[in-house]
Amino acid sequence: MPTPRICQISDELFGGFQVSVDIDYYYDTDEIATYVKNILIGSLSKMHLVSLSHTAENKHFHIHNKTIYNLRQAKQNEIIYICCHC
Ligand SMILES: [Zn+2]
Repeated sequence: MPTPRICQISDELFGGFQVSVDIDYYYDTDEIATYVKNILIGSLSKMHLVSLSHTAENKHFHIHNKTIYNLRQAKQNEIIYICCHC
């Protein structure tokens, strides 16, 4: 059964960007953060926002204090926050 979850970027520049991710497909939280990063870069590139997409490429996207197991056990409507400002 798919487990779609909303992942939202938390950052002064890209904060609010959301992607629905089926977390069952991912091995760890780094893979989820990288997936969301790639969707963001793809979206910016599609709109020809070259400078913003380069800024996104240089940021380190990560999920704080949670393992993939924590995320799988959490409520389905709980937003997963992706940090890229530290
Ligand atoms: Zn952080």
